[in-house]
Amino acid sequence: MTLNVDFVQKKVIREILSRNSETEYLKRFGLKGFTDRKTFKSKVPVVTYDDLKPEIQPIANGDRSMILSSHPITEFLTSSGTSAGERKLMPTIDEDMDRRQLLYSLLMPVMNLYVPGLDKGKALYFLFVKAESKTPGGLPARPVLTSYYKSEQFKRRPHDPYNVYTSPNEAILCPDSSQSMYSQMLCGLLMRHEVLRLGAVFASGLLRAIGFLQTNWKELADDISTGTLSSRISDPAIKESMSKILTKPDQELADFITSVCCQDNWEGIITKIWPNTKYLDVIVTGAMAQYIPMLEYYSGRLPMACTMYASSESYFGINMKPICNPSEVSYTIMPNMAYFEFLPDEVATEQSELVELADVEVGKEYELVITTYAGLNRYRVGDILQVTGFYNSAPQFKFVRRKNVLLSIESDKTDEAELQRAVENASVLLGEKGTRVIEYTSYAETKTIPGHYVIYWELLVKDQTKPPSDEVMAQCCLEMEESLNSVYRQSRVADKSIGPLEIRVVKNGTFEELMDYAISRGASINQYKVPRCVSFTPITELLDSRVVSTHFSPALPHWSPERRR
Ligand code: AMP
Repeated sequence: MTLNVDFVQKKVIREILSRNSETEYLKRFGLKGFTDRKTFKSKVPVVTYDDLKPEIQPIANGDRSMILSSHPITEFLTSSGTSAGERKLMPTIDEDMDRRQLLYSLLMPVMNLYVPGLDKGKALYFLFVKAESKTPGGLPARPVLTSYYKSEQFKRRPHDPYNVYTSPNEAILCPDSSQSMYSQMLCGLLMRHEVLRLGAVFASGLLRAIGFLQTNWKELADDISTGTLSSRISDPAIKESMSKILTKPDQELADFITSVCCQDNWEGIITKIWPNTKYLDVIVTGAMAQYIPMLEYYSGRLPMACTMYASSESYFGINMKPICNPSEVSYTIMPNMAYFEFLPDEVATEQSELVELADVEVGKEYELVITTYAGLNRYRVGDILQVTGFYNSAPQFKFVRRKNVLLSIESDKTDEAELQRAVENASVLLGEKGTRVIEYTSYAETKTIPGHYVIYWELLVKDQTKPPSDEVMAQCCLEMEESLNSVYRQSRVADKSIGPLEIRVVKNGTFEELMDYAISRGASINQYKVPRCVSFTPITELLDSRVVSTHFSPALPHWSPERRR
């Protein structure tokens, strides 16, 4: 496939356009049976999710006619990208599962070229399902990985010595994330010498597992020492499967866990507990790069393999050199997954010429645009990629960034407009006291587990003798959380993978100092804009040195699997 990318892409678009030629969407643009790229590109517009809502909504409401795809839409994958605060709904068709499966099946053959002997042990992967709902028309709406783990392809996968997990399916499939994590960790500890690789989908997930061990090792060691499962596990399927794994007391192992975990210094804990681990299997590219130092700390600098690049819209590609430095990770897009186009990032206007997969240029940055079998046509994914080279004739891409994302702790993606709205909604609570937020910025605090959002506020307090109380400020924190998107709230409530939002009130004049600092480093006075998110250490240090009070959200925001609209 990588030998003749352009040929494969031509074939893919021909297949998609011929099978979807009678859909309402494509008929609207008068393709008249043409299936070539030139006609397609000249007639069909490049779109965003909001442009497609008028097509997606009726399908979600139960319209089974051929709106986007000639093949029935079997479910919606709920993307971590949001629109109007709710997860985007991505249509998918039955056969898409095989395309995903194909990409998964390439991972171990590639890894085997770099790390031999992975068939001699197991993988401790922390995998989770998330809550799912049904659209008004009765189609399931759930994240792509939840859909995959619940599929027959995953549940009834044939035995493959290269893909033996320590976690039983029952533990992975338990919707209660705490019971799921507990039992997966317990299995990992029981089989600690067999574990050859440790992983989670994203770096944040693996750190969450370490954080979980930090707070729960006593209970886990107790289970191991008595050979009985904690009463916190109530899920019958987990109980049943654990009864075959936790079969007898193991005092020696319990003592070992206790002696390692009771120490204050957890540096290198991963290799202490799992001494045969060859690498960590986690994505540390994109927003996840912020977790590299912590993973290095806990793992004693084990290699980190970023194996694939995928989304709810489509799976894209794999890393052909998985054991490399995180800064050098490039993904090779597999040309049979979808039809790919590339919008040059520097001139991303409606008129920009989109470039074919085979024609991208090394060094340039592009926004990814895809056309899928399930009926997305020329859809802007929102990822910016840079071409780093070629594998045969297939271009390889570095993930540069996600467009318009300010803050991210795990799969949440908060943009500037959402943050602005959250600050506005929260500051209403200050209103009656005559206090206003005059400036704000934000920071993703990821040195703690779980990470949390920090919002710096500079206040104008009318009556200096009556600054807002801690109670009012804490309510402001909660109100900001209530205003953030559903992915953020789900992570707070169901997954507990984001900690309470924090507001740090800074001294008056701090934001002016921030501007002075930027100008001293060459920013133009005329064009200076307050950054709405900061990560550069001298700036966060400056802000932190001016903090007068800190406040945390006192409760969980509202969240339910059902969509608001
Ligand atoms: P979702 O649709 O919720 O599955 O999220 C997909 C998005 O996650 C992609 O569009 C990327 O922005 C991000 N993503 C997925 N894989 C990677 C990766 N390997 N490196 C960096 N970001 C990734």
